[in-house]
Formats: sequence, C-alpha cells, structure tokens
Amino acid sequence: MNNRNTPQPSYRKLQGYAFDPSLSIKIDTALLNSMVYKIPWECLQHGPVGDYLEVIDWDPSSKAFYRPVDLEDPALLAQDGLPPSESNPQFHQQMVYAVAMTTIKNFEKALGRSINWSPKRNPSGSESEYVRRLRIYPHALREANAYYSPIKKSVLFGYFDATPERPEMTMPGGTVYTCLSHDIIAHEITHALLDGMHRRYVEATHEDSLAFHEAFADIVALFQHFTFDKVLEEQIAKTRGNLGSQNLLGQLAQEFGKAIGHYGSLRDALGEINRETKLWEPKKPNTTDYQLIMEPHERGSILVSAIFETFINIYTRRIADLQRIASGGSGILPEGSLHPDIVHRMAREASKSAGHILRMCVRALDYCPPMDITYGDYLRALITADYDMMQDDEKNYRIALIEAFQRRGIYPEKIRNMSVESLLCRTEENTDQLETKFKDLIEFFKLFKEKISYLTDREQIFNITKTFITGGRLPPASATNNLKPMAISGLHEELFRQDLIGSGDFERITGLILKGDDVEQLGIGLSKISWAKRKPKIEIHNFKLVNRVSPDGSVVNQIILTITQRRGVVCVEDDFGNVRVDGFYVPAFDVTHYYKKTGNNPTRQEFTLTKINKRVTPDPVPGSEAVLPDGYFIFRGGSTLIFDLDYGASRDKMKLKYAITKNIDDEERMKKQYRIMFGTPDNSLNATYFGDAKTNLEAEPFAIIHKAL
Ligand SMILES: [Zn+2]
Repeated sequence: MNNRNTPQPSYRKLQGYAFDPSLSIKIDTALLNSMVYKIPWECLQHGPVGDYLEVIDWDPSSKAFYRPVDLEDPALLAQDGLPPSESNPQFHQQMVYAVAMTTIKNFEKALGRSINWSPKRNPSGSESEYVRRLRIYPHALREANAYYSPIKKSVLFGYFDATPERPEMTMPGGTVYTCLSHDIIAHEITHALLDGMHRRYVEATHEDSLAFHEAFADIVALFQHFTFDKVLEEQIAKTRGNLGSQNLLGQLAQEFGKAIGHYGSLRDALGEINRETKLWEPKKPNTTDYQLIMEPHERGSILVSAIFETFINIYTRRIADLQRIASGGSGILPEGSLHPDIVHRMAREASKSAGHILRMCVRALDYCPPMDITYGDYLRALITADYDMMQDDEKNYRIALIEAFQRRGIYPEKIRNMSVESLLCRTEENTDQLETKFKDLIEFFKLFKEKISYLTDREQIFNITKTFITGGRLPPASATNNLKPMAISGLHEELFRQDLIGSGDFERITGLILKGDDVEQLGIGLSKISWAKRKPKIEIHNFKLVNRVSPDGSVVNQIILTITQRRGVVCVEDDFGNVRVDGFYVPAFDVTHYYKKTGNNPTRQEFTLTKINKRVTPDPVPGSEAVLPDGYFIFRGGSTLIFDLDYGASRDKMKLKYAITKNIDDEERMKKQYRIMFGTPDNSLNATYFGDAKTNLEAEPFAIIHKAL
C-alpha cells in the first residue's frame, strides 16, 4: 500500500457528536455538537477492529449483523470518517470507536503506560487468559440500558423508544441510541478500564464499592468534555466564565435523561432541576447525603460533586486575574459578552485545570487499596499520587480537594486529622530495617525492569509479567540470537524465600497472614505449589513497572505490587442486631472444615472443628447435617506496595515508599462486610442488586445497576 516511504500519520481524525444527537437538533448547540475526534493512529480492520477494541455489530433483537465500517477506505480517510448520522449503523460503529479510544488514550497519558483489560478466568479459576481486545456491541440490547460485562469482557449498548416528560424535549417514540452518546460510551469504557486495574472493585463489600465505580466512570466522562475546545469556549462565553452555573460541561447524557422522562440530563455535577419550579438550582454540599444515600449512582454523585467542586475552585482562582483585567480592576464583569480574547484565555485555564484533575484522578488508582475501596481511601490516594508527582502544591489542588471532601462529611478511617501530611499513604513503620532484607528482591525487580522496559506489545508485557510472578522461562531477548530461554523463580517464591516474612514487619505492613502453623484455622488456604508447601496462599495481581516523569524532568522508576489473600469468614447476628465473627473456613469448591471460635483467651485463638461433608459453594445443600452456618462469605485483605527503585545516593537501593493496606485480620471490616451482604434490604447492597449475596458477587454487577440508569 504505502510505497512512497511516507511515515504513518500520528492521528486518525473521525467525525462525531461532542455530546449526543439531541444537541444537533437544537439551534444553539447544533454547531458545537459536531466535532472531530483525534485518535492516535493504528491500522484498522473492518469493524473497526484495532489493538484495543473490537466493534461487533450484532443486533440480537433483529437477528442481524450490520455491515462493519471500513475506516481504511480512502473515501472515508479523506473526509475524517462518516458524517454524524442517527440512522447509519456504520457511523454508530465509528462513534463508539472514536470515543472509546479517546478515553483509553486519556488513561494511558495519565498513567504513563499502556492499559490492559482484566484477564479472563480460565475454567480452573486462575485468571490468566490475556484479553487483547474489549468487545463492543453498539446495538446489543433493545432497552434503555448500556453496561460493561466483566465476564464477557464486552460493553453492550442498548437502544429504545423515547418516553419523554414533555414532547418538545425529545420526539416521543423516537429511537435513542446509547452508543451515540459520548458520555455513556466514556462511562462504560471507564468501568472496563477500572476493572482492568482493580478487578476486586466490582465486589460490593462496602457502601462505597459500586458507588465508586459509578462515580469514577462519571468523572472521566465529565472531564473529557473539557478537552473539546469549541464547546469549552462556547460555554465559557455563554456563562461569562462562570462554570459553576448551569452549563453543558457539567451535565451527563442529555438525550438519555430526557428520553426516560427526566427534566434534564441524566446526571448533573453542579445542580439539578427543581421538580416544582422546573428551574435549575445549584446543589449545595451537605454532610448527611454520605450517611443516607446508598443507591450506587446517587451515592456516586456525592464523589463526583466533590471532585467537580475542586475543579471549579481551582479554575475560579486561576481566572481571577483575567476577570480583573476584563473588569478594569473591579472583578465585576460589565454587562454583555466577554471579549473573545478573554474567553480564549479563560478556556485555556479551564482546560489546564480540568486536565490536571483528570490526570490526578486516574493516577490515584495506582495508590488505591486492592479491594474494598472507600471514598476516604480515594481521597488519600489522590493526595498521595499528587504529592508523589510534585511535592509543591502551588496551585493548592490538594487543599481544595480536602476541603471539598470535608464539606461532604467524607473522612478516611483511622486518620487523626485532615492535613496533607496525615493523609499521605506513607508506610507508618520505620522501614529501614526492611531495606536490608530487600537486597535480593532488588535484583529481582531490576531484572524485571530490564526485561520489560523496552517492550511495547501489551500481550508480551502481560506474558512476561506473568512469568515473573509465577516463575518459568523467559524468552530470549531476540529471536535471532541463540541464547537459551532464561529460567527464573517467580515473585511468589522470591517473597517467601526472603527472611522478610520471618520478621513479622512485612506481615504488619501488608496486612497479610504469612506464617504460622494454624493458618487453615484462620480460614486461609495453603499453597498448592510444591516449593511452598505449608505456606499460606497469597495472590499477586499486579506487578508493574512505572516510569514517572515529574514536572522537574526527573524520572522515577517505581514498582507497583499488589499482594492479596482471601479468607472464609462466618459472622452471626443476634436478635438485637449485634454482629460477631463466629469462625473461619478455607474457601474452596469443596469446603472440608469449619473452625468455630471458642474460648476467650486473648493471647491465643482457639477453635472447635466441624467436618463439612457436603459441597457448600457455590450452592449450599439445604438440610445436610454438616454445612457451614449461614452468614459465610469470602473476605479479602492485602496491600498495594509502591517501591522506588534507584534509590539512595548511588541509586543502588530500593525503598518501600507507600503501602496501602486492608488488613486481613480486621474483624471490624469483616462485620461491616457482613452487614453490607446480609443486612436488612435497606442497607444490604447485595440484596438490592444481586439477590443472593453469596453466589453473585462475580456475576453482572453493571447490568443490574444500570437498568434505566
Ligand atoms: Zn456505570
């Protein structure tokens, strides 16, 4: 094809809607709603099918495949793809591809590395099958729904007939395609991206778990609006620079919201339409919502508004000088339109602050605990991630964030005060003693860095990382040399080989149970790997090399490592609603023993043992004599560890810089999780969304949450 040695283009331009089709039929938004997405160039097969995504246009309700769009067609290349059209399925395919890729690239930019989808479980239960492409079905459902399926590794979009509150809002009976809404696409892809980084976050173990998933997906969709220059300038001109007033940028899914009978958009980060007056009013933060609201989207909007308020605060301070210039020093803008130059400069400030916040929000994911995330944990992650990138906070981003969370009554647990200093997830212990014990690990991490640094293919990175975790043979550096594959022991083995484990410090820092003869009685399984006989089972999910370039230009090499453990716990509740931990079992397909806690010896836990002779998971057999007591569930603990490589004066040391830990032995957390899973329907998320709490933790969380959104 290319015989003129022309370099590949950097971008592919694709036309699309900035919001959704409904804004193209209103005169004041029609112009700004059509935009051109700029996607980093990749060769595409019909579909489109690229390196990250595979658009498959099968419509089950009409039992038809729509012809896949060919974006390599010269006619389409020459005109930035198909023009926006509600009736052309090929444009729908182009639109989902354009927005999904935009979202992926924003993530990669913030993280400084390529993303992966969460791996598929193979039948044996170990999750190791690589997923190169997320599947996207633009016309999968005939209902007002769209969702990410963690099991199918797909995003399914629905379409439906509108039933608007007032006919002038949307044509009644007109078809609404969720795959044409920027906000819905970005939201769903973000669920998939978040699942790729933290696959335990789809488990509803805390009121905040699913709400966090929802909030985060909305935050990404919202802040992407600020990368649309034309929209940004228009909205700044319209609101005369006041982005805290009602505007398109702070609203999500206009068409969808109106089509299902809302007065306005589906969600609005800034305000809401008063049901009585039908007028828009700004939302005032309060500390009761966080205590009372449990529905994931509504609870999610508390976090979204905290982040959005932070942005508005920072933006407002950044444009204060421009306002003074435009108002001749008074700060009060004269009547009439702003000068286009002022609008342009304000838009630049808005886009800079929004970009900073979006990157901060995504980067914070690296500093989150591996499971059971709360809003308080996320605040700490945001502060730590930002601090780790730059120690100075000239623009006061961190203070603004803390304030916004405080105004909503969101406080991290076990924190003495809300200062930046105490919110940082620094390891509390003096880790100097550990440093000497890391010596062998340093070599292991450096080898990992050496093997992984120059790889670009996502699957290759995944496979080599897997070998580093489990042990095995690394492929030779290049296919042409005759070197033999190099055998390495895995990280599992490396960790247990260290006298690290013996000291007890590592246990304390990671919140895991790593030694002792009685780990089975504590509900923790023993490893089946031969060299690790009688060692407690651990799972390593993440092992990543991260290069962070800080604003002063220095490069920091970090290793991020996630170690987790699971434990079978049984809680019982008395008639007065008091919950206590009754005992433990080792989670497995066939549970063999139940260890009930007895005695009150404070220094040593004692157990009585019941043999379980029936299969209890996933379906307990009712009526059999020996089954687990009701109220059993899988409880997880563990830690996200962040190491600085190249540490110390001669850059030959390594430092454990941050440990973000959820203790596996935390009985308060066990009781809390029990209440979430088995509590009265009002406060049991699982009863509301999943029916049977025990079996459905890993089913389709978003299909149910998103119904009628
Ligand atoms: Zn969602």
